[in-house]
Amino acid sequence: MSQKQTLSFQAEVAQLLHLVTHSLYSNKEIFLRELISNASDACDKLRFEALHRPELYEDMPNLEVRVGFDKEARTLTIADNGIGMSQQEAIENLGTIAKSGTREFVSHLSGDQKADSQLIGQFGVGFYSGFIVADRITVESRRAGLKPEEGVRWASGGAGDFEVETVTRAQRGTSVTLHLREDALDYLSTWRLKSIIGKYSDHISLPILMRKEEWKEGGEEGQGGEHVATDEWETVNQATALWSRPKKDVTPEQYREFYKAISHDYEDPLAWSHNRVEGSTEYTQLLYLPARAPFDLWNRDKAAGVKLYVKRVFIMDEAEALLPAYLRFVKGVVDSADLPLNVSRELLQESRDVKAIREGNTRRVLSMLEDMAKAEKDEAASAEDKAKFAKFWAEFGAVLKEGLGEDFGNRERLAKLLRFASTQSDAVGVSLADYKARMKEGQEAIYYITADTQAAAANSPQLEVFRKKGIEVLYMTDRVDEWAMSYLNEFDGTPLQSVAKGQVELGKLQDEAEKKAAEEAAESFKPVLAKLKEALKDKAQDVRVTTRLVDSPACLVVNEGGMSLQLARLLKQAGQ
Ligand code: ADP
Ligand code: MG
Repeated sequence: MSQKQTLSFQAEVAQLLHLVTHSLYSNKEIFLRELISNASDACDKLRFEALHRPELYEDMPNLEVRVGFDKEARTLTIADNGIGMSQQEAIENLGTIAKSGTREFVSHLSGDQKADSQLIGQFGVGFYSGFIVADRITVESRRAGLKPEEGVRWASGGAGDFEVETVTRAQRGTSVTLHLREDALDYLSTWRLKSIIGKYSDHISLPILMRKEEWKEGGEEGQGGEHVATDEWETVNQATALWSRPKKDVTPEQYREFYKAISHDYEDPLAWSHNRVEGSTEYTQLLYLPARAPFDLWNRDKAAGVKLYVKRVFIMDEAEALLPAYLRFVKGVVDSADLPLNVSRELLQESRDVKAIREGNTRRVLSMLEDMAKAEKDEAASAEDKAKFAKFWAEFGAVLKEGLGEDFGNRERLAKLLRFASTQSDAVGVSLADYKARMKEGQEAIYYITADTQAAAANSPQLEVFRKKGIEVLYMTDRVDEWAMSYLNEFDGTPLQSVAKGQVELGKLQDEAEKKAAEEAAESFKPVLAKLKEALKDKAQDVRVTTRLVDSPACLVVNEGGMSLQLARLLKQAGQ
């Protein structure tokens, strides 16, 4: 047996642990969900590796999780017979934060306990959540395929360091033992644990076992008594993958909990859609729209949210090939009946089945959004349903717009979902169809202005003539607008036109007298314009008389087809 070594946690882990133990009181019981989900992941990994190396099953092909407790010792143990960890893996996985996403998350923590505990709730702290209820955790593990003498024991009090030593362990897999804190002793109860498992872990596709209890009469006169554990184990969850059950057998509450388990979100999802798709490609999809954007939404390389299974076997998290990047906020599961079990990320990119699944998923998400948008105007819809699309749009609208440039096939469907503020609406709720419905007679284009903020847009001198004539102008204030709108030349037969580009062509909206006055002015100002042009020759391409201003003496515009001022500023900021 090797000597015990004491090692320090990586700085980020120490920081996270401090937070976990100091600010997570409100929802303590999630530790069990996290540890059971790790046990289940470990079994998934074993099943996957054993596709090529069946000997890894040793003599225990039935994968399962056991939850047990010892009242006297005040310990709670979560054990699995999954893939297990070698000593080196235990040191790395339980002593550092390997995933860059998690590291980035920790760097967002502010030190303000209230704000941080919200963030942590959103992210889920995985293994370390055990320290919410335990002042000491011991982990024993042996990796499948290693000899019994190559087991590892890891232990920590959750402060700055942890210990590891080599042990002999006959059983493959991992057992995590929590030494409960004084204020967490209520988890030493079968009833309590069962109800938490039912709430958070019912969807786990493996059996979760607990000891069966018997009622034992206490006292000689037969008053009172207590539940005592027997040697027999029973399964306490449904143990079938939630998405493989018929819709009618899954309650909304179960759908919501499943969402929380796969997304690490603490809020309910806005909507979900569960379908078995048949045809040339067969698969089950269960897709969720979150209610809130994650902190790293703007990172286009960030983990995609859909997990891939093949015939119930877990293949990979974050399967980005299953949805286009502009739908990266969608969470869920796809279970394919056709893909090979050994499919790799590279293969996924090329597979025709995957292409069909991606298109099917995209259509499904768009129709969920269309349903929400429809409810917005539906008299019969509940107040909650009516408010959903606006909520969605506020969180994810700007990402959805990326689709205009990315997904030509669905551009029209996307265009119908766009929402803007405008000269007639402070709220970001004007659709292009709303706009068209109130266009002035003779108006031939949908006008918009891009700016950094709504206030900047509203104060732009370029709007003066539109205000005067009562023509609505849409405000585009998201960073992506300029780029996205360059892909949308028209909506439902009406061209879109930026009021900051070229000569604003008001067409029939301008009356003859105005036109004539403008032409005369242009004529009589010719000498002045020539002088101005000469004076500004390094700064302006052209100087001309305009009818677009009412109160302001002058404004800057860009050439038709040129980069707008907004885009030019953005590129400059980006150092281009
Ligand atoms: P995550 O599950 O999101 O990766 P966790 O903090 O929950 O993060 O777990 C960290 C890592 O520790 C896991 O990725 C895994 O490698 C390892 N691990 C945790 N629990 C187990 C277990 N029961 N069996 C095998 N490995 C485990
Ligand atoms: Mg985990």
